[in-house]
Amino acid sequence: MQFSDLELDPNVLKAVEEAGYTDPTPIQVQAIPEALKGRDVLGIAQTGTGKTAGFVLPMITILVKGRTRARMPRSLILCPTRELAAQVAENFEKYGKYHKLTMALLIGGVSFKDQDKLIDRGVDVLIATPGRLLDHFERGKLMLTGVQIMVVDEADRMLDMGFIPDIERIFKLTPFTRQTLFFSATMPPEVTRLTREFLHNPVRVEVTRQATAPDTVTQRVCLFTPSRRDRVQGKARLPARPDAARGRRSAQRHHLLQPQDRGLDPAQVAGQARL
Ligand code: AMP
Repeated sequence: MQFSDLELDPNVLKAVEEAGYTDPTPIQVQAIPEALKGRDVLGIAQTGTGKTAGFVLPMITILVKGRTRARMPRSLILCPTRELAAQVAENFEKYGKYHKLTMALLIGGVSFKDQDKLIDRGVDVLIATPGRLLDHFERGKLMLTGVQIMVVDEADRMLDMGFIPDIERIFKLTPFTRQTLFFSATMPPEVTRLTREFLHNPVRVEVTRQATAPDTVTQRVCLFTPSRRDRVQGKARLPARPDAARGRRSAQRHHLLQPQDRGLDPAQVAGQARL
């Protein structure tokens, strides 16, 4: 299976090629076609499996077909930390460089004013931490009724950080008809409850990740559909990220984001990026 078999937008494929990736990882092979079909996806996958591109690539492919609307973001990605939100934003920049989608990053430590301006103009992709998103909503500056695709990334970390009530509230502010792409490394009962309540007939994609050598990982994928619980398995190797081995405690810490360190323009962290 190659990226070109996944029915992604040609300019997305070009950006993927330029990023140096030849073959999709197992989570990408399984999640991308389902996301492109408009299905809800429940991805059980850790950092290091390529899950971010697993939702970013189909999202760009879907969003390029529509139009931006003022104050009503068309898609929403919720991340537990601002560091992770910035990483997702980097992925949108990398894979969306041939498109004119607009993006706003709503994270703490950045002035509301700059972020408000972007939202007023209209954004295709809103990437946010739950608390900051709700702060904007409560100030009456943001409507979530235009959200067509919603991503919840690292839901189990959201649980550890006490964000589940916020996530529930945000789900209820978005349309029932939205498509949801939901990722978690593990499935504790509270996270399972959330998926049962807010995902519609999701396809479940599961990747287990085992360190086989200091710089490689093995991925095994299981794909379940509610109607046909056939099991499809695959294997791939990709470089492990140095931060993949970080402990949960350090991963939970709220890092003070240094935009220049993350290769981002500080203006983009203030909220703006033209993709
Ligand atoms: P993630 O699990 O999304 O945090 O991604 C882990 C790392 O894998 C990131 O550094 C990605 O840039 C990289 N990556 C994503 N997709 C691929 C791919 N198809 N082939 C090789 N590396 C990839």
